[in-house]
Amino acid sequence: RAKANGRNSWNVHDPSETDPAINRMRLLGELRHGIETKQLRVHYQPRMDMSTGTINSVEALVRWEHPTRGLLQPIDFIDLAEESGLIRDLGTWVLQEAIRQGTHWAQTSPRSEPLGIAVNLSTRQLLDPHLVDTVATALERYDFAPGLLTLEITETALMENPATALQVLTALKSLGVGLAIDDFGTGYASLTYLKDFPIDELKIDRSFVSGLGSNDGDNAIVQSCIQLAHAVGIRAVAEGVETDHQRTTLLTLGCDLAQGYHYSKPLTPEHITTWITPRQSITNVMTQNSGCPL
Ligand code: C2E
Ligand code: MG
Ligand code: MG
Ligand code: MG
Repeated sequence: RAKANGRNSWNVHDPSETDPAINRMRLLGELRHGIETKQLRVHYQPRMDMSTGTINSVEALVRWEHPTRGLLQPIDFIDLAEESGLIRDLGTWVLQEAIRQGTHWAQTSPRSEPLGIAVNLSTRQLLDPHLVDTVATALERYDFAPGLLTLEITETALMENPATALQVLTALKSLGVGLAIDDFGTGYASLTYLKDFPIDELKIDRSFVSGLGSNDGDNAIVQSCIQLAHAVGIRAVAEGVETDHQRTTLLTLGCDLAQGYHYSKPLTPEHITTWITPRQSITNVMTQNSGCPL
């Protein structure tokens, strides 16, 4: 390419800065290195029990603390990890880290109900023949109650190879973990899969939740999703709840769990720890420091 552009243009700019393929290769190398040198972080978004208004569990969401590019979000690197196969190492790390953190919360939190943890799985992870072993090993390593772990799988991942997906989900189910269909409504999953797959919860995609109250179509879709979930005996979870109006509408419709910026953005583990500390002790700290509000 440099040759084709001629000598002069070679001097004008370094083609490696603009060539997307070269940038990808560079980012891939950095990601591989970043996983090895522990640059990944997990943030956690509270999942609220709608009927009690209390935190039920948290969803683990990966971040990459890049040494020069700043804190990168999944959109910046998950596809790259998926296409390159690095998602295996990345996913295994996230799973172990979330379970390690969940064990820590279970041991230290004053709550009577231990906090559940939800972890996302990509298509490639779902179809990885080692997945069931990886999950079983992570649970055993930390002696984490399988019932406290939910694995979130998108409709698209399930549809990539439904026969294999059914086998894998059945094996995961027999470990005792919960299974969720993520981004429900955005893929092309046939409704019969809801009946055939051993699923425990249906996560209604944010694109429908955001139209609640302002878009009749979205109201109808969200209502149908909740009814559908309940009809097959599973929980309905709303993602991307941003307003109190959306919250009250979902509550009226009988939605079981909800998450979104209305409650909280994804937080560092330290922030979740203060979230799950009973209000009473936070009040005590505030009263003690009342002479100095900030
Ligand atoms: P997801 O599993 O559907 O996660 C929900 C996404 O919506 C998260 O984005 C979350 O921060 C965002 N979100 C939550 N509440 C709101 C809200 O009220 N408003 C808006 N606008 N956004 C909200 P995030 O963290 O950027 O993750 C994006 C996607 O990346 C996830 O979608 C998931 O598919 C994937 N992902 C994240 N972490 C992992 C991981 O560890 N492994 C795999 N395989 N995929 C992951
Ligand atoms: Mg998810
Ligand atoms: Mg989702
Ligand atoms: Mg999503």
